[in-house]
Amino acid sequence: MTEYVAAVDQGTTSTRCMVFSHAGEVVSVDQREHRQMLPRAGWVEHDPAEVWANTRAVVAGALAKADLHTTDIVAVGITNQRETAVVWDRRTGEPVYNAIVWQDTRTDKIATALGELGGGQERYRAKTGLPLATYFSGPKIRWILDNVDGARARAEAGDLLFGTMDTWLLWNMTGGVDGGVHATDPTNASRTLLMDLSTLDWDADIAEEVGVPLSMLPRIASSSAELGRVRERGALGGAPIAGILGDQQAATFGQACLSPGEAKNTYGTGNFVLLNTGTEPVMSENGLLTTVCYRIGDEAPVYALEGSIAVTGSLVQWIRDNLGMISSAAEIEEHARSVEDNGGCYFVPAFSGLFAPHWRADARGAIVGLTRFITKGHLARAVLEATAFQTREVIEAMNADSGVPLTALKVDGGMVGNELLMQFQADILDVPVIRPVVAETTALGAAYAAGLAVGYWGGLDDVRANWAKDKQWTPSMAEDARERAYRQWKKAVTRTLDWVD
Ligand code: ADP
Repeated sequence: MTEYVAAVDQGTTSTRCMVFSHAGEVVSVDQREHRQMLPRAGWVEHDPAEVWANTRAVVAGALAKADLHTTDIVAVGITNQRETAVVWDRRTGEPVYNAIVWQDTRTDKIATALGELGGGQERYRAKTGLPLATYFSGPKIRWILDNVDGARARAEAGDLLFGTMDTWLLWNMTGGVDGGVHATDPTNASRTLLMDLSTLDWDADIAEEVGVPLSMLPRIASSSAELGRVRERGALGGAPIAGILGDQQAATFGQACLSPGEAKNTYGTGNFVLLNTGTEPVMSENGLLTTVCYRIGDEAPVYALEGSIAVTGSLVQWIRDNLGMISSAAEIEEHARSVEDNGGCYFVPAFSGLFAPHWRADARGAIVGLTRFITKGHLARAVLEATAFQTREVIEAMNADSGVPLTALKVDGGMVGNELLMQFQADILDVPVIRPVVAETTALGAAYAAGLAVGYWGGLDDVRANWAKDKQWTPSMAEDARERAYRQWKKAVTRTLDWVD
């Protein structure tokens, strides 16, 4: 009998279940989108109950599509949009508020006030590897406890639980109010601003200062270890859940960036560059995050430097949904190809402020360099180029922090189907850009973490052996053109700062 591993990929826009073979090939996939709730400017929420219902549906769907049964699945991995925070009642299983999504900026004032206690944005950097920013989960929990009637008292009485999406799904899948497992992995915990990077445990002082009772926080387990079993009812009933990785760490794992110095960039809603730095955390001096990359069983954790860019693919969605300029994301490439270059037009999509390497919550988007000459084609190009320029900013920061210049970039995510963008990325970075055969690296990484824990794969060499190149883009832009374009981009970025009063 052939056996498989399943991965649940709970993303920002949708939830997927993918089933993988021993060769790391996709055997089946099912996917459902969930609603994006935008109740005010800067606020982004998801309904945790909808996400859980979608998870059950896609798990059943993925098994049914390939005519698989629970007994064919040896392990289940979970990967998730990171930082998105859910708080729920441990006795009823009911969330007390919608999930506050990573892109949400409502915690701006909380983050600023914490910084004013001393140290500003760098207050928790030494322990957590992170700047104080709206992005991370801890202040989102604080907002819920401060703003939902009675929530703080219930939390202090021990009635409320916090989880990122991995924890919310793990708890529900393993039984919910009937003994659900309340745990997370170090990659997700390292995004809360509450975890000490060196001990991989919650930091009681920071938690107290941020205003989060320790009793709400999940146990920080390993990224690859048996955490619990799916409750008996329904699809996957009885299967071990044996791996959890935050989505970007999962993609790093799925790209087999398993040795220090290896890096990948995922082009999705946002872009996320992660560089494996080995078993020592490297503190950034150039606006990057230090984060846990993965932890296998009881082994020493592996760390990463990360450049997180909030808006890349979601700018293409914005062009489609808010401007109606295109009817599908892929159509942007046709428009971009209708012109030779950007015509001098630059689009800085600082919709959620600017993340790495700037970390400026006060920035707002700008389109600059407009003349009457500019057409839809130029704008389409500026939209795609924004992704590549933002990536160059974080790669430069990474080269500076690590002292080792990047020599090639492995890429994945929804936007890597865009050939024009990939060529421009190679041109603007002046290094080759490489896409693997299995582009679904996020789900694959979670499957590997789970499969390794149950012995389905024997070790990291199996993961390396499964990785194969699909396509490579080689840089071909002249140096003066490249540097001039990048200078213009940097000038455009300065126009977006200090916008919010
Ligand atoms: P996530 O996992 O973050 O939800 P995906 O990896 O599925 O995202 O990527 C989807 C994103 O990629 C969307 O924001 C979409 O606008 C963008 N995208 C998809 N196809 C293309 C394309 N051909 N050209 C440009 N952008 C694209």
